[in-house]
Amino acid sequence: MKLGITLLICIFSLVAKADLSTDRSYKDVVNYIHNLATKYPQTTQLFTIGFSNDGVAIEGIQIGNGPMHNLVVGTHHGNEYGSTELALNFAESLAQSPIAGQTLYVIPVLNINGYNNRDRYEKVNGKYYDPNRDYPGPCGTEGPHNLNSTKALANFIDQKNIISSATLHTYWPAAVYPWGISTEDVDTPYTSTFVEMVNAATEASHYSVGNSTVLIYPADGAFEDYAYWKHGIWSILFEVGHSHSPSVSDMDEMIKGNVPGLRKMFEMAPQARAEKHDFTGKCSIGLRALDLHIE
Ligand SMILES: [Zn+2]
Repeated sequence: MKLGITLLICIFSLVAKADLSTDRSYKDVVNYIHNLATKYPQTTQLFTIGFSNDGVAIEGIQIGNGPMHNLVVGTHHGNEYGSTELALNFAESLAQSPIAGQTLYVIPVLNINGYNNRDRYEKVNGKYYDPNRDYPGPCGTEGPHNLNSTKALANFIDQKNIISSATLHTYWPAAVYPWGISTEDVDTPYTSTFVEMVNAATEASHYSVGNSTVLIYPADGAFEDYAYWKHGIWSILFEVGHSHSPSVSDMDEMIKGNVPGLRKMFEMAPQARAEKHDFTGKCSIGLRALDLHIE
């Protein structure tokens, strides 16, 4: 009897264990989402947002059939494989149980050659670009769009009418909201809504929450500010875990906190884009020196 119970516990813990790896290649990531699509044909569908400068398809998986469209994008920075693992495990959790009324588009890896090389930057013709400084922005950018990947994502969020988005990074525990640019005027008209979103997102993880510029540092040309500034997308940046090189057990903890957090956030997120999304403050370009390019 006792042995039976022990066996049952072992089997349950095997089933419940997240599928995590520290050394996946982009090909493995694609296989992962293709397997999900095969396993959950009723709730999922594969998609491609376009091609990287190397000509590789940037693939994702959409989950659910609802009229409200939301987005999760991982791995703008190729070395941040913990964010890829979170995106994959969130996709799997959604495939098992989609969010009512929503279609979630999950893109586990945006920066493909960076991911394969475990390099923050995306390499094109011998030059290295930071994909999360490559979008247009109200206080400037290192781009815009030196990279096909960032242009493809910019087109995608426009075409799909994305309402809320989560962009996933490592490596310190935080969920933050706009503005994250070189300015001292960091407040949007919607701080209270953003605070509700990050509070929901961190209910299980207990991560720090706040304004992106204040909690991290100013960064011009980042996706999260672009999505809000250009379209009024409710845009949250997640910095997950404690390291750019998390172990499997570190990532297990990361998944346990952030998979329910992401779900909770999307469940409570606004149903329509923000209306007042222009930047009306003053840029302080001198603050750009604070951008460490490590997050
Ligand atoms: Zn990052």
